[in-house]
Formats: sequence, C-alpha cells, structure tokens
Amino acid sequence: GASLIWFRSDLRVVDNTAFAAATRCSNNVLAVFISTPMQWHEHNVAPVKVDFIRRRLDVLREQLAELSIPLVVVEVDYFDKEAQAIADLAVSHNISHVFCNQQYEWNERQRDELTARLLDKRNIRFSAFDDDCIITPGKVLTRNNQPFKVFTPFRREWLKVYRFEVPSVYPKPEKRHANGFMLDVQPEPVMSFTYPAADSIHWPVDEEAIRQRLRTFCEEKAVVYHQQRDIPAIDGTSCLSPYLSIGALSARQCMAALLAEFPQCLDDSKSGAFCWLNEIIWREFYRHLIVAWPKLSRDQPFLGWTRNVMWQQSDSMLSAWQQGRTGYPIVDAAMRQLRQTGWMHNRLRMVTASFLTKDLLIHWQAGEQWFMSQLIDGDLASNNGGWQWAASTGTDAQPYFRVFNPTVQGERFDPDGSFIRTWIHELRDVPDKYIHQPFLWDKAESLNYPKPIVDHKSARLRAIEVFKSAKTLI
Ligand code: FAD
Repeated sequence: GASLIWFRSDLRVVDNTAFAAATRCSNNVLAVFISTPMQWHEHNVAPVKVDFIRRRLDVLREQLAELSIPLVVVEVDYFDKEAQAIADLAVSHNISHVFCNQQYEWNERQRDELTARLLDKRNIRFSAFDDDCIITPGKVLTRNNQPFKVFTPFRREWLKVYRFEVPSVYPKPEKRHANGFMLDVQPEPVMSFTYPAADSIHWPVDEEAIRQRLRTFCEEKAVVYHQQRDIPAIDGTSCLSPYLSIGALSARQCMAALLAEFPQCLDDSKSGAFCWLNEIIWREFYRHLIVAWPKLSRDQPFLGWTRNVMWQQSDSMLSAWQQGRTGYPIVDAAMRQLRQTGWMHNRLRMVTASFLTKDLLIHWQAGEQWFMSQLIDGDLASNNGGWQWAASTGTDAQPYFRVFNPTVQGERFDPDGSFIRTWIHELRDVPDKYIHQPFLWDKAESLNYPKPIVDHKSARLRAIEVFKSAKTLI
C-alpha cells in the first residue's frame, strides 16, 4: 500500500522519524502539509512565523521532489477540519498508512485522536512517532515513576537515560524508484497562506545555511557560550530556536553536532558546550511537562494557588510594555527588538516577562500571548514554560519574592548600553552614565522618551505582598 507522510512541525527530510518510517514502509509515498489559518489565529501564531513556515515549505518541496516525492499543500480553517482533510486525501489516493510525528500540545493531541478515529473507520493505519525530543516524554522519571517537577534532578536523570541509549540521527531516505505519485511538473512555490503578511527573510531557510549556522555555533561559539550567552549585544547564542520550532532542524542534530566537536562535554559541566546542552535539556523539560500536565496547554498555572493572585488590569500599561515605552531602557529595547525582528534574546525574555508580571502585575497570559503573536520561534511549551517561570506560577519557577530589578539587569548585561542604543534611537546620544536611567540626565526633557511608568522599588513590594496574600488564601 501507499504511505502518506503528514508534515507539521517537523519540516525536514533528514533525521525525521516519521518520514524515515514512511519511506521504509512503501515505495509509493505522498507528502502533505495542511495550513490552518483560523487555528493559528486562535493560537496567536505570529505572522512572521507563518511566513517562515511558508518559505521553508518551498525548500522542503524541492527536497522531496529530489526524492521523487510530491508535496501537496492544503488549507482548511481549524484542526478538526484537518483530520477530515487527511482522511479524504488518504481515501482519494488509496493510502493504506498515514505517518506523522507527535505534537504534544493539547489541541494537537485532540486533533490526532480524531484523525486516528476517522482513519480507523476507513481501515487506514495511523502512526504518530515521538520525534521532537531527544529523549521521549515519559521516559525521564523519578524513582517512583513520577514526572520531575524540578529541573536539576530531571537533567541528571535525562543524562543517565541518554548515556544508556544514545539516539541516532536518521539519514535522508533514498530517492524513490517509480513512485506511484510521480511528479510530472517542477514543484510550484507554496502560495501565501490566508494570514496577515510579514517578512521572515532575515532567517535563511535552505539546508546548507541552517547546517552552517549549527556548525559555526559548535565550532566557534559553544566554547565561550557560558561567558557570552547573557550579553544581548553579543551574538553569543545559536539563534537556532526558529529552526527547532518548525522542525527545520532537530534537537538530535544539535546534540550530534555538539558532541562531534566536544565528545567529552557530558563530563564537563563547567564547559560552554555543557552549558548549551543544558538549554537543550530545558527545551526537553518543558515538553515533558506539557505531556505530563495537559493543563499547562489549557491556560492553567502549574501552581494552583497562583490563581488567587490579584493581577492588575491596565490596557495602557500593557500597551506601553508591548510598544517598548515603559521608561526602562533595557525592557524597551528588548520589546522593540521583538516587534521589529520576531526574536528576543533569552536574558531579555526573562527581564521583560518579570517586568510585566511583577512590576506591572499584569497577568502572565497577556505576556504569553503577546510573545506568541510576535515570535518567529513561538512555541507553546517553551513560551509557556518561560512565562510561568518568570511569573512564579510554574514548576521550578523563580520564587515570587525574587524580582528582577530592570535597571540593575541593564547595568549588568548591557553595561555600556550598546544594545539599548541599537534599538532605541532616541537614546543614542545619552551619556553612558545615564543610559539605564535617562530621566536623571539634565537634558532628559529633550528626549522623546518616557519617564519610568512605575517606580520599581514600590512595584516590587506590591508584587511580593500580592503574591504573599494569594498564597495565604489557601
Ligand atoms: P540558545 O541559547 O542557543 O539555546 C539553544 C536552544 O535551546 C534554543 O534554540 C532553544 O531551542 C533551547 N532553549 C534555550 N533556552 C531555553 C529555555 N529557557 N527554555 C526552553 N528552551 C530553551 N524559546 C522558544 O523556542 N520559543 C518560545 O516561544 C520561547 N518563549 C520564551 C518565553 C520566555 C518568557 C522565556 C524566558 C524564554 C522563552 N524561550 C522560548 C526560551 C529561550 O529564550 C529561547 O529558546 C532562546 O532565546 C532562543 O535563542 P537561541 O536559539 O539563540 O538559544
């Protein structure tokens, strides 16, 4: 029988578990991608991410054509229609087996259950593989077979499981001979989706550029990653998150490239390479968490008592944060970087998230949504994990009484203000001495830049009080 490979957030031909299985199973392989604009809209998927997906699909389509596998692109509105579209496609092309890689979020899992039922009714097999993590969710457990709630012991166990069973990278499948779905025309570029336009052109999507980025990072930057990763003015991190989020690259490929360069890094927890691996394991941790606790994909905090926090409603404060006009230069520079590029440095994601949830005391979900609507690497597990960490509502989160001081964060991580000056042109000529507190400069009046919208000292005390009383309510 023929196979259908359903691409979702795994847009690559190399090291793709489901794709490898589909091509092993049959010579006749058809590929499909389904866009779901209404669902994306409901999930706040950023237009820049959608554009990035579209461009990557063009590459994928060419790569598949080289293997003599055609890619069909279908558009429906919501996930439930997607299940029906797969069933229809399978029937009309005489498919006997549909392959895909699991997506771990709640709506996605519901959709896959529906798909499985629709296919089962038609006697078509459906296989969803674990592919997105290096170690499959559910395989890293405490001695009592429970999921971990704290990162450090999770990582210890993750490394143990990894050493026991080093996952291999799947090679690109062979070219098909006489695929029953042979292409007789050159692949057409993917038309734009029914979605607001945005331009992701700064992020190359061809295979060689992506691999080069990974290689360059491992060869040149990983060794000093631990020293440079917190300085947003330095290009010290890999900038691979967009590729990981749409699956143009797999976490296994990252790990393999790192180990090729630093074969001993698992044993050297002080090295830059280990420090990077640590971040890849954070990615895994958050994925394992959303599988173990589906409530995390359903607007719930991990810590139940934080539902009692009296968040403030303020459209003007929220908007000042979104637009980068809070009067705290490091926060504003970061928020403008996000709006203009669709990406933000990790240190600043923590600083801006803390600012929204603690200094402004605005609900973390407003921030989670805004990030999602802007980020090219927007991803439920990591975004939700990051927000719940910053808001002190998550597993292993920042304790509520530890509140970042945005001025001090700026002074520590952007000492000469070069990151700030890149993103806030109004502050270009402010002397170093005042760059983190421009309102103290005697020429501040001439700047088109707001005064701080809150006083950090009192905002911090207010946040601690509000959290404390929420905790004592239960
Ligand atoms: P590197 O430092 O090179 O790290 C390598 C990879 O490890 C990243 O590409 C990413 O896949 C993973 N990683 C790194 N840090 C984390 C982390 N803290 N949590 C989970 N995975 C991590 N990451 C996303 O991919 N999508 C998101 O939507 C997202 N939202 C976030 C929201 C908040 C509030 C916070 C605090 C963090 C968020 N992160 C998110 C995590 C992190 O900020 C980004 O993964 C990182 O900045 C990407 O840059 P990089 O590829 O250069 O990372």
